Amino acid sequence: MDQPLEHFAKRLTAVRRRIERAALDAGRDPAGVTLVAVSKFHPADAVKALYDLGQRDFGENYVQETRDKFDGLDVPEAKLHFIGRFQTNKAKYMPGRFQMVQTIDSERAAVALAEAVRKKGAPPMPVIVAVNVGEEPQKSGAEADKAQIVLRAASALPELDPQGLMCLPPFFDDPAFSRPYYDRLRMLRDAIRDALGLDLAHLSMGMSHDLEEAVAAGATIVRIGTDLFGPRETV
Ligand SMILES: *Cc1c(COP(=O)(O)O)cnc(C)c1O
Repeated sequence: MDQPLEHFAKRLTAVRRRIERAALDAGRDPAGVTLVAVSKFHPADAVKALYDLGQRDFGENYVQETRDKFDGLDVPEAKLHFIGRFQTNKAKYMPGRFQMVQTIDSERAAVALAEAVRKKGAPPMPVIVAVNVGEEPQKSGAEADKAQIVLRAASALPELDPQGLMCLPPFFDDPAFSRPYYDRLRMLRDAIRDALGLDLAHLSMGMSHDLEEAVAAGATIVRIGTDLFGPRETV
């Protein structure tokens, strides 16, 4: 490993403190925010280092990279979140590998994943619907006004367990500019929850540079890569 364990320990402690402070500032219980360590493009030994420090939730963007990294890695209690662009032809690899899929963005995606769960005989898959809150053409995610349709479709499939919404807003140097997008996602979740009568407990939002804004807006899952693992070579 090119980084000593204490580097990871320091980073993990610093991120946990930021989450804790942001939650307390917002009058929230810090235990209500799950830290997902985004390990894409980082090696297996970095994952193992964080795992040995107590981190359990990991996020990955690519199915193949996840298999290469986690097969044979001794992290029995790790919980893997799929956070990459959802491709229906990769759905069959997800049950049994990921414990949550955060990027369902269409009815078609929901149906494909449900079929994969059924074929595998796996338990219902917790899913989160990704919303393209910034309406950016290059980004995936359902349009905001389609999110309800996708969640309704997911809730009608016994193989899926819909739990909320996620977003990846436009990047701004000043994290304060992220806040309106996070507020928008929360309001959208509240509206869909009321309309469909679903629990939808989760809001997956907030990354390294703006987790405070997301926690203030109600994030229950933050997805942190850079501030835990260091910079990635590619994005
Ligand atoms: C890479 C990635 C992250 C982590 O971003 P950092 O800025 O490195 O914390 C979070 N969410 C998604 C969907 C990602 O692809």
